[in-house]
Amino acid sequence: MIGNVILLQNITPYKELDFAKTNFIATISHELKTPLSSIQLSVELLGKKQLGTLNEEQISLVESIKEDATRLLKITGELLNLSQLESGAIELSVAPCTPYEIVQYAIEANQKMASQKNIHLNIHLPENLPEVMADKDRTAWVLSNLISNAIRYSYDNSIVEIKVQQINNNFQFSVQDFGIGIAPQYINKIFDRYFRIPGNRNEGTGLGLSICKEFMEAQGGSIHVISDFGSGSTFWFILPVVNTNI
Ligand code: ADP
Repeated sequence: MIGNVILLQNITPYKELDFAKTNFIATISHELKTPLSSIQLSVELLGKKQLGTLNEEQISLVESIKEDATRLLKITGELLNLSQLESGAIELSVAPCTPYEIVQYAIEANQKMASQKNIHLNIHLPENLPEVMADKDRTAWVLSNLISNAIRYSYDNSIVEIKVQQINNNFQFSVQDFGIGIAPQYINKIFDRYFRIPGNRNEGTGLGLSICKEFMEAQGGSIHVISDFGSGSTFWFILPVVNTNI
């Protein structure tokens, strides 16, 4: 033992590059959102035949443009969320809201995809629930993302159970599917950015669950999963009930 060698490396250029990358992603995804939304709207109008009747081939082309525009909007939305999380630009607005608004948004956003696979969304939502302390939009996004995954990773003609339960001072929002399930060796990785289970044939970015986790943790909640490989998975998140006694 003659001595110790300490190596110091200046990481400023890497940090600057990382910052530039985050900014670049944010700008691109933001700039893409507006034209994509307008493509989606125009195609929607075309499909409604207000501008003339379409033949079968044209209808199927319009349908596939619509689906692609929706897919692209989903990806740009995820990239925008990611870059905002990375740059710390995200501002949560946590306030009392009803669990009904959150569930309603998430169901509406996924109803069409569910019907396409003939999947029934079974909703268990007790009446007269108190308010939940949450960022309504972000929480609705998280629930919608879990439902969308449940549908995408389910077989056709099945059921997805969506449940809201009050457990003491918390709400538990859960989404259970009876689909392909997750092998035990991947269960701790699925919340990592860009992680996708090898062999996954569905389209996707591997970003959805990591954003869900960050949105939940940023508002003091938590997100969990259990899965039975081959039989299905249950994802749930926990948020506090608004305390009316204060
Ligand atoms: P992706 O866009 O790939 O679906 P996510 O972050 O939402 O990204 O999910 C990460 C990975 O976890 C997915 O690629 C998929 O392999 C797996 N996964 C997520 N939800 C489910 C589910 N309900 N059933 C089975 N596998 C799932």
